[in-house]
Amino acid sequence: MTRLIFLGPPGSGKGTQAQTLAEKLDIPHVSTGEILRQAMKEQTPLGIKAQKYVNSGELVPDQLVQDLVEERLSQPDAQSGWILDGFPRKVTQAVFLEGLLVKTGQGGERVVNLDAPDDVVIARLLARGRKDDHEEVIRRRLEVYRQETAPLIDYYRDRQKLLTVNGNQSLEAVTTELQKVIA
Ligand code: ADP
Repeated sequence: MTRLIFLGPPGSGKGTQAQTLAEKLDIPHVSTGEILRQAMKEQTPLGIKAQKYVNSGELVPDQLVQDLVEERLSQPDAQSGWILDGFPRKVTQAVFLEGLLVKTGQGGERVVNLDAPDDVVIARLLARGRKDDHEEVIRRRLEVYRQETAPLIDYYRDRQKLLTVNGNQSLEAVTTELQKVIA
C-alpha cells in the first residue's frame, strides 16, 4: 500500500512527479491545486469560494481544502493508496490529515520533500505560464510556502516520515531517485 504526501515549493516539479509516479503505481494522484482549478473553471460553489485566494497566491481557507480532501480520500479508488500533492500546506492541515487518516484507518503515509533552489523554481514557474504564474503572484506563493508550508518539513522529520529528493535535476533523474527512496 503506497500513501505518499508530496512537499516542495511551487515549481519544484512535484505535480509532474506525483502524476508520473501515480501512473506507475496505478493509484490516484490527488492534487488540491488541480481540483480547485477545475472547480474554478466549472464555477462550482467550491470554485467560486476559492478563486480569489488562488488567483492572488494565498492559501484557500482550511475548511474548504480539508472537506475536499476528506471527500476525495473516501472514494473507492483511494482505498488502494494515493499520492497527495499540495496538501497539507500548513501545520493545521497536517494535524487535520493525521486525524483523518487515523479515523479512516489509512495510516502509514510517508512524505517526500522535493527540494529545489529559489532561482530554479522561479525560472520554471515563469516558463510554465499558468494563470497564477505571474511574477507578483509567484513571489507571494513562494512567501506563503516559506512561512506556512516549509515548517512541515520539520514536522514530518520529527515524526520520522520524511524522505528527501533533489528536485534540481532532469525529470527522469528525479523520477529514478524518487522510486529509489520509496522502494
Ligand atoms: P503550486 O504548488 O505550483 O503553487 P498548486 O496547484 O499546488 O500550485 O496550488 C495552486 C493554488 O491552489 C495555491 O496557490 C492555493 O491558492 C491553492 N491551494 C492548493 N492546495 C491548497 C491547500 N492545501 N491549502 C490552501 N490552498 C491551497
